[in-house]
Amino acid sequence: MSVDTVVLQDATLTRVGYIDVAIDPAAAGLLAEDFADIDWREPLWTEGDQLRAGAAVWFADIDGQRLAFDPVQAADPVLRSDPDTERSQQTAIAELLVVSGFDRASVDVLVMTHIEGVGMCAWHNDDGSWSPFFPNANVIVSAPALESFLARERVGDLDIEYDAWHALIDQGVVSTYVDGDSVVDGVRAQVTGAHCPGHSILHFGPDAYSPEATMLGHLAISPVHLATGECPLQHPDPATAWSALSAAAEDGRILIGPLWPAPGGGRWMNNEFIATPGA
Ligand SMILES: [Zn+2]
Repeated sequence: MSVDTVVLQDATLTRVGYIDVAIDPAAAGLLAEDFADIDWREPLWTEGDQLRAGAAVWFADIDGQRLAFDPVQAADPVLRSDPDTERSQQTAIAELLVVSGFDRASVDVLVMTHIEGVGMCAWHNDDGSWSPFFPNANVIVSAPALESFLARERVGDLDIEYDAWHALIDQGVVSTYVDGDSVVDGVRAQVTGAHCPGHSILHFGPDAYSPEATMLGHLAISPVHLATGECPLQHPDPATAWSALSAAAEDGRILIGPLWPAPGGGRWMNNEFIATPGA
């Protein structure tokens, strides 16, 4: 486990890491040769020919409110595919959050950049039903992302994304934001699409036009995406994804990727990605 903190003017962001692993770069739409020449990639972001990725939860404490973001998203194939171990994984993550000072019950709002699997948005009960993972939190996702999810049919015998999200919706805890909304004061959503319908990035700071930090969602599965250009194998609309990514990177603000391994963030400066925090 690891805990990394970024202190902003009016907010404290904390990454609680469960596990960091090396993954096939194909899972992020890349080949090893795409990042072979990037000299800042080792040791944090790549391991030989593989990318490093993290299963983590980011939190923000802002003006007495606690937000969580994209909890352990996109890790279902590893953490939730085996019914025999799935519940012990969610219990282990819940316990990790307690010892890290981020008890599930302390979260007021769960903010999603998009819907991709279940992650730790929902708790799988022993009887097979689903409850909110964060029992006191409202879940918010962009209106077009929710619309896209609601338009799809249940697929196959085991469609946990479908079952879990419909359970949350039926329990009345899911609401939506639109492009430009402040999800809370100091956190502005920009609906970028490009990765999937309604995908969003989140800007932190009191000045909406000059954010201190931006959470990039899945526009960059790894920081190496900041240097590898358009990624058509990852995004249906690679030009729009690259344009949003470049715009967020160019002024040296803190960039955060929910799937990045510890420390989970950094700044793009002088054509190099400088990890922060820890620094
Ligand atoms: Zn995604």
